[in-house]
Amino acid sequence: MATDLKDRFPLSPGSTIGIVGGGQLGRMLAMAAARLGFRVAVLAREADSPAGQVSAFEIVGDYGDPDAVGRLAAQSDVLTFEFENVSAAALAAAERAGAPISPPDRALAISQDRVDEKRFLNAHGLATTPFAPIDGAADIAPALERLGAPALLKTRREGYDGKGQAWVTSAAEAPTAFTAIGARPSILEARADFVRELSVIAARGRSGEVAAYPVGENRHEHGVLRTTTAPASLSQATRDDALRIATTLLEALDYRGVIGVELFELADGRLLVNEFAPRVHNTGHWTLDGCAVDQFEQHIRAVAGWPLGPTTPLARVEMTNLLGDEAHDWAALSADPRARLWLYGKRDAAPGRKMGHVNRLTPLA
Ligand code: AMP
Repeated sequence: MATDLKDRFPLSPGSTIGIVGGGQLGRMLAMAAARLGFRVAVLAREADSPAGQVSAFEIVGDYGDPDAVGRLAAQSDVLTFEFENVSAAALAAAERAGAPISPPDRALAISQDRVDEKRFLNAHGLATTPFAPIDGAADIAPALERLGAPALLKTRREGYDGKGQAWVTSAAEAPTAFTAIGARPSILEARADFVRELSVIAARGRSGEVAAYPVGENRHEHGVLRTTTAPASLSQATRDDALRIATTLLEALDYRGVIGVELFELADGRLLVNEFAPRVHNTGHWTLDGCAVDQFEQHIRAVAGWPLGPTTPLARVEMTNLLGDEAHDWAALSADPRARLWLYGKRDAAPGRKMGHVNRLTPLA
C-alpha cells in the first residue's frame, strides 16, 4: 500500500482489488480477478454475499459507511464498485486510505443524477431525449407543454430497473405522478419513440486505449432486463455511431474501466443515449460466453492497468436473466448443450430478483 500511485500500475498478480458491493456483478468481477491471480476483498451488506462467497476477504458493512469503505480501501491496492449508489463521503474515505478509485468518482457522481447525466451527455454532443428538471409538482405542467404528452417522470437519483418512474399523460395527473415517485427532485423526459433498445459495453484502459464490444439488443419486461441478443444486427452507420458515443463518453470522463451505455434506436437509425452505468452491466453478460475476454475480465484489466483484451465476438449469444424461481430449473437448463448457466449463489428467490442468467450460443452467421 505504500507505493507511489504512478509506480503501482500495472498491478502485479497477488495484489488486492477491493470491490464495493457484494452482488452478482461483484461475484463475476471477483471470479475474473481470481483467474488473473489477484486477491479480492469485497464490502457487502450481508455475510455470505454472492461476491463474498468467491472472494478472499469479505467485510460486512454499509456501502455509505465511510468507516467500512475505509477498511476495505486499507486492504486494497485499487478500489472499484459494482453499483452506482456509493456515497461521495465513502469514496473520500477510500482516497484517504490510499486506494485509488476506478472508474473515477466523477463518472459515478454524474451518473447518480439523471439531470446532470443528460446535461453532461448533451454538452459533449451526445443526443438524449429532451428533458426538464422537476423540483415540485407545479413544474410538471409547463414542462409537459414543452416536451409533449405522454412524458416520463423519473426520480433524479437512485432509480433503477424502472423503479421511481411514472408516465404523465396530462397536466391533471401531475400531483399524483409526483407523489407516486416519492415527491422527490425528478426529471421529466419526452417519450423516446424508439424501435429498439440497444446497449454498448466499452472499456478504457489506464493508458487511454478504448475497446468496445459489439452492440447488444435488449428486451425489458416490467422495467427489468429480460434478454440481450448480441451482436445485434445493425447498419454500419448505427454501429459506427454506437462506437462514437462510447468513445466520446469514455474520453470526456477520463475513464478507466468498463462502462455500460444504454441507447434508444429511432426509426431513422439515429441513437439517443438513455443513460450510462459506470460499471459492468447486465446487458454485457453475454460476453462471458461470447468473447475471449468478457466484460468482467476487461474491467479488472482496465482498473489494474493491464492491456485491454479482444472484444471480437466468437458466437452469437442470447442472454436471458433468470428471475425469482426460474433459477430452480437449473437441472433442465444445464442439460441444454447450447446453454451456459450462471447462478449467483443467492438463497432467497424473491419474485423478480435476478438469481442467475443463461447464455444460449449459436454460431456466428
Ligand atoms: P431507465 O431506468 O432510465 O433505464 O428506464 C427503464 C426503461 O424505461 C427503459 O429501458 C425504457 O424501456 C423505458 N424508458 C426510459 N426512458 C424512456 C423514455 N424517455 N421514453 C420511452 N421509454 C423510456
